[in-house]
Amino acid sequence: MKVGTFRVDGERRVGLLDAAEGHVRPFALERFHAERGVEALARLTAEGLPLPQLGDPVALSDIVLEAPIPRPRRNIFCVGKNYYDHAQEFASSGFDSSAAAGAVPKVPIIFSKVPESVIAAGEPIVMDSSVDAAVDYEVELTVIIGRGGRGIKKADALDHVWGYTIVNDVTARDLQGRHSQWLIGKSQDTFCPMGPWAVTAEEIDLAATRVQTFVNGEQRQDSNTGLLIFDVPTIIETLSAGITLLPGDVIATGTPAGVGIGFKPPRYLGHGDVVRVEIDGIGALENRLVDRAREARAAD
Ligand code: MG
Repeated sequence: MKVGTFRVDGERRVGLLDAAEGHVRPFALERFHAERGVEALARLTAEGLPLPQLGDPVALSDIVLEAPIPRPRRNIFCVGKNYYDHAQEFASSGFDSSAAAGAVPKVPIIFSKVPESVIAAGEPIVMDSSVDAAVDYEVELTVIIGRGGRGIKKADALDHVWGYTIVNDVTARDLQGRHSQWLIGKSQDTFCPMGPWAVTAEEIDLAATRVQTFVNGEQRQDSNTGLLIFDVPTIIETLSAGITLLPGDVIATGTPAGVGIGFKPPRYLGHGDVVRVEIDGIGALENRLVDRAREARAAD
């Protein structure tokens, strides 16, 4: 099942995608629940309730797609350096404030992005070159938690996954390197493109799903979720050991090699660049970068 959050006639709805027919069918959710986006479906499933009935089809050309969970209830959990090849390229970049601990982490590195950083497919990633000059992309398979819990064991962890989406973990490398905690560099406004769709858990083979990034059509990242250092069950066990996970929690699982910082010299995003992150079975999430400082200068 592939679902999305979108606006029709100004109202937020959550619906089932039929790509072949070119339409979505909104679920009959009360407005209060629809405002939560796909989180509402994860919550219903977690409570063992059936999904609401589907309404009449709406053409894709008549909707404005939003992020599947437009405003998560709390920070997006993220895993750092979770593919070997990326851990190596990042540690050797000189921007890794955690490098002293070694290139490849022995336990998952967890950080977060603030909920307000989430944007939809097609919305601009807004950098401000007077604040952050080294903006980078990171394609990440992203977990949406269904049934919450604390002390979840690896063997049970996948029972707590409602589904998956894509996050582009946009990062200001200069800010990430300047502060030993990564939150500022990761949480700039608009730095969490999410979507375009969410899929239920059975749609994704965690052992073999391709993840890719293209910048202006040029492929930069090409890897597979089977190469994660810490797999999804391990991440869930680690997080939930002392933090109660809630339905609708979002966990970005890390990015493979090929980010801008990995090139010599680095290839950061600049004004006008179009970055497309793709995961097989979910779709392609495309956003254009806008440099606010440059636009302001041009307007003077
Ligand atoms: Mg990341």
